[in-house]
Amino acid sequence: MNELYPWQHAIWQQIRSTAASNTHALLLKGRKGIGKLAFARYLAKSLLCQRVTAEQAACGLCTSCRWFEQEIHPNFYLMVPAACIEPSGEANPGRSSTDNQDTDTARSRKKPSQYITIEQVRTLDDFVYLSGHQDSIKVVLIHPAEAMNIAAANALLKKLEEPPPNVLFILVAHRSQELLPTVRSRCRQITLPVPDVAAVRNWLTQQGVKHPDLCLALASASPLQAVVFSRDDYFALYTDFIRQVSLPDSFDPISLAGKLHKLDLPDIVSWLQKWCYDLMSYRMTGKIRYHLQQEKIIKKLVATVDPVQLARFWRNLITTQQLSRHPLNARLFLEEMLLSYLKVMAPERYAS
Ligand SMILES: [Zn+2]
Repeated sequence: MNELYPWQHAIWQQIRSTAASNTHALLLKGRKGIGKLAFARYLAKSLLCQRVTAEQAACGLCTSCRWFEQEIHPNFYLMVPAACIEPSGEANPGRSSTDNQDTDTARSRKKPSQYITIEQVRTLDDFVYLSGHQDSIKVVLIHPAEAMNIAAANALLKKLEEPPPNVLFILVAHRSQELLPTVRSRCRQITLPVPDVAAVRNWLTQQGVKHPDLCLALASASPLQAVVFSRDDYFALYTDFIRQVSLPDSFDPISLAGKLHKLDLPDIVSWLQKWCYDLMSYRMTGKIRYHLQQEKIIKKLVATVDPVQLARFWRNLITTQQLSRHPLNARLFLEEMLLSYLKVMAPERYAS
């Protein structure tokens, strides 16, 4: 990925020439799935390029650009949670192997830590003070920055307080409010835009997405999430999920959890949040936001449900969403969530 997304050109114009001036740290923040990591890499590549274009973009031809593309640039360090590194990848300077899109970090999730650890931040010392080409800038890209645990964040803070010369830290955060305030305040903060729907619809169509509006609605307007959503296997699982939860009298939470537990858990919780949102919304106002094609089923379901119980369950899903990032056992976690849903939607199944 060497291009900006279409919705990033304006912000690039605004920051391209001043991004790295008078600062040692940038915080690129914004919703997940809008291309922040790709933007950060684009910026890093352009800062390292030996012959930037008139647009301040990387030339794509010089030695530095070629190193960058091959992920072997000695002056670039990508720091991500171990869980986001591909099986063959090594967390070496310039060699951390991850996908470029925000959404793909979830797909490559494995058992290794979901956090960025203090050991990782300590390994920066060699990169920052010793290695690389001393006369040109070095870039450290941390993604997602909120994955730093407290010890790691404090270790980074020390570096930000006494910034090493000629080093730029780029922190990318989906949830910047979870960063230490002291880390945030050391950074120049740039909010990356959520693109408008028309622009994204065009882009999604160009990517071959068959149901751009539906996928975008379900992905909470994040275009890269929408692309993930549109993949056939993913879409089929989602469709099956909705079909099952719309049949509370017969669906089997244990087998459904078995089918889904290897997917990104926050996504599944989000599916149920949106589904329950529509149930509540229809019950209160007669309006549906996400599942327009399921109106008949939703109407039938909410006719008998206890609205207080449903509202309570829906509120609890916010906590469930937070816990879903670090579950002890994904399968049990899903079973529990789906069983709780069933207790609200089909209490008679538990009456005996
Ligand atoms: Zn270049």
